[in-house]
Amino acid sequence: MEKALVKKISELVDNKREKEIGFLRELIHFPTVVGSSYLEIQEYIAEKLSKMRLTVDKWCPDIQELREYKWWTVPETYYPGGFDDKPVVVGTYKGQGKGRSLILNGHVEVVTPEPLNLWKHDPWVAEIEDGKLYGRGAIDCKGGLAASIFALECLQEIGVEIGGDVIIESVYDEEIGGTGTDATILRGYRADGAITTEPSKMNITIAHVGVMWFRVTVEGKSAHAAFLWQGINAIEKALPVHKALCSFGKDRMKNVRHRIFEADYPIHATFNPGTFSAGGYPSSVPDKAVLEYRIGLVPGENNETLFRKIQKIVKETSARDAWLSEHPPKVELFGWYGKPTYISKNHPLAQSVANSYKEISGRPPHYNGITACGDIWRLQHLAHCPSLTFGCNGDGIHQNDEYVVIKDYLNLIKILALTILHWCGYK
Ligand SMILES: [Zn+2]
Repeated sequence: MEKALVKKISELVDNKREKEIGFLRELIHFPTVVGSSYLEIQEYIAEKLSKMRLTVDKWCPDIQELREYKWWTVPETYYPGGFDDKPVVVGTYKGQGKGRSLILNGHVEVVTPEPLNLWKHDPWVAEIEDGKLYGRGAIDCKGGLAASIFALECLQEIGVEIGGDVIIESVYDEEIGGTGTDATILRGYRADGAITTEPSKMNITIAHVGVMWFRVTVEGKSAHAAFLWQGINAIEKALPVHKALCSFGKDRMKNVRHRIFEADYPIHATFNPGTFSAGGYPSSVPDKAVLEYRIGLVPGENNETLFRKIQKIVKETSARDAWLSEHPPKVELFGWYGKPTYISKNHPLAQSVANSYKEISGRPPHYNGITACGDIWRLQHLAHCPSLTFGCNGDGIHQNDEYVVIKDYLNLIKILALTILHWCGYK
């Protein structure tokens, strides 16, 4: 890109820093903990996008439509009141019609800041100290969302004509299973490329693992402990099944690998037994044991194939036990579900971000993968958009004293602005 244009964008972002930081601070002030009302923050964002002359679509998802959508996996216990106070906001900036379109997707909800006594800075005040802006959501993901908005605003102010459409999606529930992004897909939003602005520390994240939660329910037969020969102990019956699954999981943790994770992670496809509940009283033989697991998949693996393998292991283990053969444990998927994502470094979308990164920082970017999964899998596999993650630098995600490095927040705005131009085309 022409050096003069890069310089112009960079200077404009620097000149607007008070406004850019102020807006992010406002977003942090909304205590949008998972499951709370997102009405005010979404109205605030919608108003900002309207002022920028974007076509703003603000709607509350239809819970019935989501229930019928195969991929919506958020537990309904989060929504006793439905979605009336949880609008999704999408702002579309129409390009000249000659370039590729781009979705910039970020979520407004945050995980709880508890325990509060660990915070040095109040999670909702957005204090600034030593070039860092503190607050819950500073990088996950309000910083990324704010940066997307200002990247576009900056291009509008410079007066450059953008080729393709830029679609800013302000969603929620990324932390618990993606209601907002699901709703945008159901509403028909698609683009030639998508970036989720999750906190990637300014790395270009080209791969994410897939994740599945599954549950195994083992039946027993209750009896008074004094006459336990009359019952079947569900805990004892569950243990060999659990052991077989763990052995499978350990094997995967050793052998299932992907080169993109090699530099950063000792284990790629993690296997975690997360809950084990059984019985209710020491003097009763437990009649049920419920075990829940989280299993990760590397890019190239298939969720359905892996789940069938899990079912087979449980079936084979049960076949070796008379009671379990007669009472086969139930194996089911529930909650979190995501397919692994991957995009090549050579894909034009990755190249657009990489070139922009170089133009702003003067250095080549770092590409990575992460062993967690987010809304990106929905954009990549359900909306079929080539997609990657690129977002804020900072620390403290899901911990105390989350912060964004202010200098890099401004750099993110600059890089996203250039990315829009590289990807969507301009005049
Ligand atoms: Zn996030």
